[in-house]
Amino acid sequence: MAAEQPQGRDGGRRSEVLEKEEENLAYGEFLEGRTRKRQNISKPWMQSYFQGLKYKCEEMLKVALENNPYAKLLLDAMKNSGCVVYRDRHFSCEACDGTVSGGFDALASQIVLCQNTIQSQSQMNRVVTHELIHAFDHCRAHVDWFNNVKHLACSEIRAANLSGDCSLTNEILRFNFGLKRHHQTCVRDRAVRSILAVRKFSKEIAEKAVDDVFESCFNDHEPFGRVPRSRGDAKYAYRDFRNRDRYYANL
Ligand SMILES: [Zn+2]
Repeated sequence: MAAEQPQGRDGGRRSEVLEKEEENLAYGEFLEGRTRKRQNISKPWMQSYFQGLKYKCEEMLKVALENNPYAKLLLDAMKNSGCVVYRDRHFSCEACDGTVSGGFDALASQIVLCQNTIQSQSQMNRVVTHELIHAFDHCRAHVDWFNNVKHLACSEIRAANLSGDCSLTNEILRFNFGLKRHHQTCVRDRAVRSILAVRKFSKEIAEKAVDDVFESCFNDHEPFGRVPRSRGDAKYAYRDFRNRDRYYANL
């Protein structure tokens, strides 16, 4: 990400990938959120209200980047791939359309965190991880986010698979747990829904793109080396990742 110059915040036409992730999924409602909105904050009380939300969001982001093993592993992996991520430059807490919780702005190489919808540290951890997987894909490969639906599908499959979005706890919280509800089905559904939340494709096109690339993208666990099933598991994956680096460095 560092290799790219983020555009100015008034850079005009910025295409972006903002997506709905959370928490009202239990209601099955998917409203669209495609743009980074500018909040019209004119009243002093509103300014302090938004500053408070921003401050809280930035504090949770700091905790996620410093303590969450998923995020730490992804940051290290990006550094190794030549994309150093800086908290102040590549993350932005913003007021979003109330239906999205975060997004990856590919043109600005920036992860947007929605200060008005991210309510807890665990949600922040998950959103940061999900978006960092997109950023990692952006760093390691030439992803055509805007014209190639299969590229987008692949990254959404990986983000849903590896970020904990489809962990058992989250599935239970969303009342989606059932014998027929396998991890794989959850990943497929979420990938399709993420595509539909950010692009005006038909459901059929989104589903076909996900199915076409599912096998290879679902089995691509980089940089984790496996699907981390829990925070503890992510810790081990992080340890293995660091050891892997050490091993390569000694060759
Ligand atoms: Zn996504």
